[in-house]
Amino acid sequence: MSKNYQNYIGGEWVDARSDETFENRNPTNWDEVIGVFPNSGKEDVAAAVKSAREAFDAWRLTPAPVRGNIVKKVGDILTERKDDIARNMTREMGKILDETRGDVQEGIDTAYYAASEGRRLFGHTVPSELPNKFNMSVRTPVGVAGIITPWNFPMAIPTWKIFPALVCGNPVIFKPASDTPLTATTFVEILLEAGVPPKVVNLVHGGGRRVGVPLVEHPDVNLISFTGSTAVGKTISKTASDSLKRVSLELGGKNAQIVMDDANLELALEGVLWGAFGTTGQRCTATSRLIVQDGIYNKFMDMLVDAAQNLKLGDGLKSETDVGPLINEGQRQTVEEYVEIGQKECATMVTGGNIYDKGACKNGWFYEPTIFADVTPEMRIAKEEIFGPVLSVLRVKSFEEAVSVLNNTKYGLSSSIYTNDVNRAFQTMRDIEAGITYINGPTIGAEAHMPFGGVKETGNGHREGGWEVYEFYTETKTVFVDYSGKLQRAQIDNY
Ligand code: NAD
Repeated sequence: MSKNYQNYIGGEWVDARSDETFENRNPTNWDEVIGVFPNSGKEDVAAAVKSAREAFDAWRLTPAPVRGNIVKKVGDILTERKDDIARNMTREMGKILDETRGDVQEGIDTAYYAASEGRRLFGHTVPSELPNKFNMSVRTPVGVAGIITPWNFPMAIPTWKIFPALVCGNPVIFKPASDTPLTATTFVEILLEAGVPPKVVNLVHGGGRRVGVPLVEHPDVNLISFTGSTAVGKTISKTASDSLKRVSLELGGKNAQIVMDDANLELALEGVLWGAFGTTGQRCTATSRLIVQDGIYNKFMDMLVDAAQNLKLGDGLKSETDVGPLINEGQRQTVEEYVEIGQKECATMVTGGNIYDKGACKNGWFYEPTIFADVTPEMRIAKEEIFGPVLSVLRVKSFEEAVSVLNNTKYGLSSSIYTNDVNRAFQTMRDIEAGITYINGPTIGAEAHMPFGGVKETGNGHREGGWEVYEFYTETKTVFVDYSGKLQRAQIDNY
C-alpha cells in the first residue's frame, strides 16, 4: 500500500477539498508508487491564501533576525537528514545520488546565507537637502508570496525562494511540481519542525492549471515567484499584470559551451559531458549546444563521442550510474521528437538516438546520451530547449563567429568558454548575452551566495540567490523625520 500525503493549509494537514488524488511514481521504475497526493483546486488555494493572510501581521512584526534563526534551524535539520532526503529525491525524480545530495546541500547553503541576511536587510540613511531633517529607507515585506517550482531541483529551488520570502517577513503558499511532491512535503515538515509558525507556510499540491493558475489569479496574493518553462512564464506574466502583482520569472535556456583551438581539451571534455548529460540534460543551465573551433573539431569530436558512449545509464541510487532517467513519459517523448527533428534537418547523429530499456532500465524513462554534429544555427535543434540528453554541435572558424552563434538564441541563461587566451576570456565576459558566464567551467552549477538568472526570454530581470533576491521580497519604504519644528517644504525652489 502506498502512503497518502496531504496539503498543509491553515495550520493543519488536510486532503484536497474535492478528495481527489494523484500518484507520484519513480521514473527509474514506473511500477513503484512513491505516494498518493491531493489533487487540489481553486478552493484549496483560496483557503491557503486566507491562512497566509491571517498570518501576515504577526510574521511581519517578528524581528528579522528571529525569522533568520528559524531558517538557520531548517539548515541544521537538512544537514542532519541530507542523505535520507537525497535518497528519496533520487527515487522521486531520478537524478543520481551525488546530484540529489548536492541539491540538498544547495538548500543548506541557502539557509545559512538567508539566516545571516536576517541581520542585514540593509536600508540607507542619506543626508537631507533641508536642515534638521533625517532621511532613510527601510525594507518591508511585500505580503503573501505564491511560490511555484519545477521538479528538476526539488529542494534547492524551493529554498531559493521560500527562505528569502520568510526572512523578509512574507507568509508563503508553496505549489510544488506534481512530479516531486514528496520532497516538497518533507521540506514543509522541516520548516514547521524548525519553528515556522503554522499559517505562515502553506503547501498546496496539484497541477499547474488546477493550483498554479488560481494562485496567480488570486487578488490577495501579492507576489509570485515562478521557475519553469518560458511558455508558462509568459502566461503568468500576462495574468499577473491585471492586478500588477510582483512577478519573478526564471525560465528556459539553450545554453552553449564554446571550445577554442587553444583550450585544454581534457578539461573542456569533462565540462561538456557534465554540462550536457548531468541530470540527464534536464537542467535549465544544461549545455544544449557545443560550439567548437575548426582546428580541434575532429579531435575533440572523437574524444566526445567516445566518452559519451561510456556513460552508464541506470538507477541513480547505484554508485556506478552516471545518467538517470528522464522525469516522465512525456519528457521522453519530447526528446524522441527532437531527435527526429534533428534527423529531418539533416544534422549527423554521431551517437545515441534510442530509448534505453536494457536490464534494470526496462521500466524507466531512459534515453541514450545523444549527439548531433553538423548542426547549423537555423536548425530547430540549435534553437529550442529540449530538456534531455541531446547535444547539438556547431563548428565555427573564429572567436567572433563563436560568440555570434552563442548569442543567436532567444534565451540567455548560462554560457561557457574554454580558452587559455585571457583577452578572449574577457571579451567573452563582455559580449556574451547571458545571465551567467563560465570561463573554463561548464554551463551548469550555481553558488548560493551568487545571483542566478538570465536575460532575454529566460526571465524578467529578477535574480535568485545572493543579495539580489532580497530586493524582490521586500518593498522599499522611504522615511523622512523632520525635527525642525516647522513646515519645511521640499520640491519647492528653496535656493
Ligand atoms: P513547467 O513550466 O511545465 O512547470 C513549472 C511549474 O509551473 C510546475 O509547478 C507546474 O505545475 C506549474 N505550472 C504549469 N502551468 C502553469 C500555469 N499555467 N500557471 C501556473 N503554474 C503552472 O516546467 P517544468 O517542466 O516543471 O520544468 C522545466 C522547465 O523549467 C524548463 O523550461 C527549464 O529550463 C525551466 N527551469 C528554469 C530554471 C531557471 O532558474 N531559469 C530552473 C529550473 C528549470
